[in-house]
Order: sequence, then structure tokens, then C-alpha cells
Amino acid sequence: MNASVEHQNFLIELQRIDSTIQSAQARLAALPEREQISAIKARIQTTVDEMAGAEAELADVKIDLRRSEVDVEAVTDRMAKDEARLSAGSASPKELEQLQHELGTLAKRKAELEDGELEIMMRVDAAQARVDTLKTDAEGLAQLELELNIRLENSITEINKEIALKNSERTLVAPKIDQALIDLYEKIRAKEYGVGAALLIGNKCEGCNLAVNAIEMERIKNLPTDEIVRCEECRRILVRI
Ligand SMILES: [Zn+2]
Repeated sequence: MNASVEHQNFLIELQRIDSTIQSAQARLAALPEREQISAIKARIQTTVDEMAGAEAELADVKIDLRRSEVDVEAVTDRMAKDEARLSAGSASPKELEQLQHELGTLAKRKAELEDGELEIMMRVDAAQARVDTLKTDAEGLAQLELELNIRLENSITEINKEIALKNSERTLVAPKIDQALIDLYEKIRAKEYGVGAALLIGNKCEGCNLAVNAIEMERIKNLPTDEIVRCEECRRILVRI
């Protein structure tokens, strides 16, 4: 195949544009924010699950506390009634003795119940603190997710802008090259990781970085400048400089 030196140089320019587009697309696909966002989402889910457990526990201990309060109230009421009967002075000596005995038992019972109540109140505080901590964690994670999403959107916009710019450069360069040469270039690109044309720098192919052997170098040197050269190793189009 033949193509003028000018066309070959435009092909190298096209290759540079295509390589930039390809690396931008690779960056787009591998933006670190994507992985960070899924990690945050997983942490949010864990926090939500833990929060459900902590809230259920808080509800349970609150019920325990209410129950304990009711028990204390019942004993207090009973004691008030007994004391009222005592101070009314109408009870017989035997009843008085019974009332005093009962009051003693009730006072002991009340003290026990109040100790229990205090312990439950501490459990309520602990459960409430756990819920509050998880709530703060969830809020922090949601904020982080929001920031990561903004960063992701910004990166996507920036890279897409770069791709659009390079595509518009491409539409200016591509028409300057023979269609047959473009077709060959595209065919090689599809097989060779996006690189269809490379410079021959010294005796090295810029595409595969391998040295062209001396005999082949001698043959290339003697070829007319408009003859298309291919690398013997990677088969890419070699453009002489
Ligand atoms: Zn090569």
C-alpha cells in the first residue's frame, strides 16, 4: 500500500488522538469513586441493620422501664394506703401490728424495685447512646456518599469533555487521510489494543518497543517514502521520521 508522507504523518496524529480517547475512556471506566461509593453503600447498609437492632433493643428496655415504674407506683400506692390506715387510728392492735409489718416488707420491696429501675435506666441510656452513635455514623456516611457522588459526576463531566474535544479533533484529521489507510489502521487497532500506527524511532517500533533487525532496517531505508511499512513483530503501520 502507498500513502504520501503527509498522510502518514496525519495517521500518527490520528493515533495520538485515538490513544488519548482510549485512555480517557479507560479512566472513565475505572474512576476510583465508583468503588468508594459501593464501599460506602455497604457500610450504610450495615449501619442501617445495626440501627434496626439498636432501636429494637431501646424499645424493649423502655418497656422494661415502664413496667418497673408501674411496679414502684403500685408499691408506693399500697404504702400510702397503709399509712393512711395507720394514721386514722381506727385499726385494732393486731391490725396495727400487721400494717407495720406490711409497711416494713413494702419498704424493702420498694428499695429493691428502685434499684432494679435504676439499672434499667442505665440500660436505656446505653441503648439510647448506641442509637445516637449509629445515627451520627449514618449521617456522616450519607454526607460522604453525597460528596463522592459529586466528585464522580465532576470527573465524568471533565473526562467526557476531554473525549468530546478529542472527537472533534478527530473529525478534522481523519478526512485528511486516504480511506484505504484508515481502514488498514482501524483493522490493526482492533487487534492491537487500540494502536494501529507507530513511529519508527531509530530502529525501534514505538508500537511494540521491539528493535527492527538490521536486514529489515536496510530494506526499509531503501523503500520509497510513500510505501507503507509494517512492523515485522506487531504488524502495526510504521511511520518513518
Ligand atoms: Zn512493532
